[in-house]
Amino acid sequence: MIIVFKPDASEQDIEHVVDRLRSLGLKSQVTKGEERIVVGVIGDERVLQGQPLSVFPGVESVTPILAPWKIVSREFQKQDSVIDVGGVSVGGDRVVVMAGPCAVEKLEITVGIAKSVAQSGARILRGGAYKPRTSPYSFQGLGQEGLEFLAAARKETGLPVVSEILDARDVGYFLEHADVIQIGARNMQNFELLKEVGAYDKPVLLKRGLSATIKEFLLSAEYIMSRGNRNVMLCERGIRTFESQYRNTLDLTAIPALKELTHLPVIVDPSHATGKWNLVAPMAKAAVAAGADGLLIEVHSNPECALCDGEESLKPSRFHDLMCDLQKVARAVGRDL
Ligand code: PEP
Ligand code: MN
Repeated sequence: MIIVFKPDASEQDIEHVVDRLRSLGLKSQVTKGEERIVVGVIGDERVLQGQPLSVFPGVESVTPILAPWKIVSREFQKQDSVIDVGGVSVGGDRVVVMAGPCAVEKLEITVGIAKSVAQSGARILRGGAYKPRTSPYSFQGLGQEGLEFLAAARKETGLPVVSEILDARDVGYFLEHADVIQIGARNMQNFELLKEVGAYDKPVLLKRGLSATIKEFLLSAEYIMSRGNRNVMLCERGIRTFESQYRNTLDLTAIPALKELTHLPVIVDPSHATGKWNLVAPMAKAAVAAGADGLLIEVHSNPECALCDGEESLKPSRFHDLMCDLQKVARAVGRDL
């Protein structure tokens, strides 16, 4: 539910309504716009039956949010959310490219890749320290040491880092070493993990589940935001379809559809969506053309020897060429890189 106050409503009018909501067990989020103050109500609104908030002094209108997701909805917040990731704005005018290896390997390799992607214009470093591998015999990641290597690469390059969490018990390491906590596709509906990362204000990159609908995706984001964390970014990374020629099917339609339904930034991962390095650049360009706020791209200095996802990783020179092309596409749609 959205409560809009009259332009001349006083602070006491707003406090009065917020107090009443609190006494009913409902949470409220006050947004002070240029002309109006708007209060979003979160919780089971059935407790409001017989309590017409529209009669409270200063209240102009009370409108229910019809979508099953509330805080993530465009109705709740009209303007785009801009998330501050260690000084980099995600969701603003500039398209933000996050790039780096699938898995963090040796320190020198990580720092080397970080330097090269920074030189090409990436503004956030990606790297997996904890890897959710399909086979238990595949490389599982360096764990805590990997997060420390990423933090060292951040120190060398100034790039904030994004890395995936698998276990809620590790959240302390992520709060210390990462700038964005990634929730991977396989954990999109790990509700306890969503609630855990929702309890902090550390930015979260939530990836769409392998077979998740837009509704399920947005409700997972709602889990995080309903716990208080406002810094959520959504990531379309391809969904599982009948097509087996490439790893997943990139759902480009999700980009404008999500931008309509939610104020949260939409990031696209063409690497996991395609699983093939030669398909990454065309899909990255298509994503920017379709309105993506950012990209997540795997880059490795030596893809042939990468411990994870070498087949979809771009070599630094190819990544550099892609960044030049992306700048042109971004400008064509009124944005910048
Ligand atoms: C990743 O980004 O490293 C990853 C494992 O992606 P996804 O969760 O989308 O499969
Ligand atoms: Mn990968």
